[in-house]
Amino acid sequence: MSTERTACGAPRAADAGSEVTVFGWVDRRRDHGNLIFLDLRDHSGILQVVISPQTAPAAHAAAHGVRLEYVLRVRGKLQPRTAQNVNTRIDTGEVELHAEECTVLSVAATPPFPVNEETDVEEGLRLRHRYLDLRRPRLQRNLRRRATFIAKLRTVMTEMGFTEIETPMMIRATPEGARDYLVPSRLQHGSFYALPQSPQLYKQLCMVAGLDRYFQVARCMRDEDLRADRQPEFTQLDIEMSFVDEEDVFAVLERAISTAWTASGFRGAITTPFPRLTWHEAMDRYGVDKPDVRFAMELCDLTETVRGCGFRVFNDAVSSGGVVKGITVTGGADLTRSDIEGRLTDVVRTFKARGLAYLWRRETGWVGGIAKFFSAAELEAIGEATGASVGDAVLMVADRPSVVAAALGALRNHVARERSLAEPDEMAMVWVTEFPMFERDEETGEVTPLHHPFTMVHSEDVDLLESEPLSIRSRAYDIVLNGREIGSGSIRITDPAIQRRVFAAMGIDEDAAQRKFGFLLEAFQYGVPPHGGFAAGVERLVMEGLGEANIRDVIAFPKNQQAQEPMTGAPAMVEEEQLRDLGLSLSLRPVAPAPPRAVPPE
Ligand code: ASP
Repeated sequence: MSTERTACGAPRAADAGSEVTVFGWVDRRRDHGNLIFLDLRDHSGILQVVISPQTAPAAHAAAHGVRLEYVLRVRGKLQPRTAQNVNTRIDTGEVELHAEECTVLSVAATPPFPVNEETDVEEGLRLRHRYLDLRRPRLQRNLRRRATFIAKLRTVMTEMGFTEIETPMMIRATPEGARDYLVPSRLQHGSFYALPQSPQLYKQLCMVAGLDRYFQVARCMRDEDLRADRQPEFTQLDIEMSFVDEEDVFAVLERAISTAWTASGFRGAITTPFPRLTWHEAMDRYGVDKPDVRFAMELCDLTETVRGCGFRVFNDAVSSGGVVKGITVTGGADLTRSDIEGRLTDVVRTFKARGLAYLWRRETGWVGGIAKFFSAAELEAIGEATGASVGDAVLMVADRPSVVAAALGALRNHVARERSLAEPDEMAMVWVTEFPMFERDEETGEVTPLHHPFTMVHSEDVDLLESEPLSIRSRAYDIVLNGREIGSGSIRITDPAIQRRVFAAMGIDEDAAQRKFGFLLEAFQYGVPPHGGFAAGVERLVMEGLGEANIRDVIAFPKNQQAQEPMTGAPAMVEEEQLRDLGLSLSLRPVAPAPPRAVPPE
């Protein structure tokens, strides 16, 4: 086979007259009388090939039985197209290849879904034949842009003095709060490696090792429930730096992300520095710790405004220590009673609010179910506090502060989606800082770190570690982009005494701490630099950059919602002998994964 090759997408008008050889897949095929027209596709684009029985009888005979997705080699001469035949939809549309030779390199069965158009195809089928799905232009583009983004991240990180260091994939478990994937040991029966949920402890040990600035494009594995933006294995831009505080880490991430973003041709523009919000501010103003700041509609505290009013629901909430907050929907006078009492109330109920109170501000004054409970002066005060104008609606929730925040935070996002308040191409990055150090796990009742146990406690709150662990702030921070968390990090604990107190707050005693993290505590006895770091989710960034809603569309071979890989059938049962080698026997009857759906070639 000739090694000389012209990419299908390369020829232009100026190339007319050249002899070329192209290789590719048949994207379309048309017979016009005697002439056969083939669109040949490779990674670079599409070229029209014309095969005439008069000038190239052998090529014509070879092309006769050619069907979609056959793989061909075609040699011939590029010819200009006549003005009325120019195809402006493809880059090569001013020329066509007049074949002299045509060789079928591989025949193809009829694909189970069209490869040559972006039709909607059931995702299970796409994943089962991922190699065909990946031939389609959108996923080709996604993978290439992802690669550019990662390449650029590597370049900027290196330019900033970071060293790329690979940490092991088979490790002792790292505590990132998810379930581990385990790998049984053949040489030590009964012992297991864990696949890394992140390289957290290794990167901190790199700082003890004096490596100063570490980064890695790290694969992480977490066995948790999947969502549209969560996969069991994913990639992080993982960073750790010595002798830094928050501002140093922020500057590195801002530069890395914005530079790689622009270089990858991602949508929108990223402006730096990213605005900052403390966690408390985010919760107060947006009700959530991942605020979408592309639109306003901030939560407004009405607790004092309505204290002592005639509306019992508000009064009861306030007198029992709760709060009343609201959002103002600009132009919301068009929301009907049934809109509000129906779907909008359903949103807040999902977050445990008992109901949604509302007022419309019309030309004629304030109206709505609860207007009658307020005096004119009180309504005026609500108007002032919320900034509602004529034509707007105010939606309010009264309850415990955490319920009000969650309910209104979700309602704010819901209303913004319904009314298209966010400019889709605007990229609103924010740092959310000073996260609480701990939260109470709703299921187990245990005090667990919001980030991880190596996160430094806010210096003003250290004294409250024992008395009020749930109220203390940490030095953890997130980057949020358009309401989606895209990464987290923190300044770390380097003082063993504080580390011990954090473990104690989590109910981990000295023995357990030694057993689990003794190696880290030991390393810290030998001179540890103050350090901090971050991990940014590469897929989430790429999704936003490309405007994709599904994380699977930016991963070459993703898992489905059941964490299976339908193409290869992973996870799969293994041979009895493999289990014996590992000293394992199964006590449960394994559930066989559904057999891959066979799609017979037509
Ligand atoms: N290991 C953390 C994570 O994966 C990031 C960090 O603290 O640097 O979220």
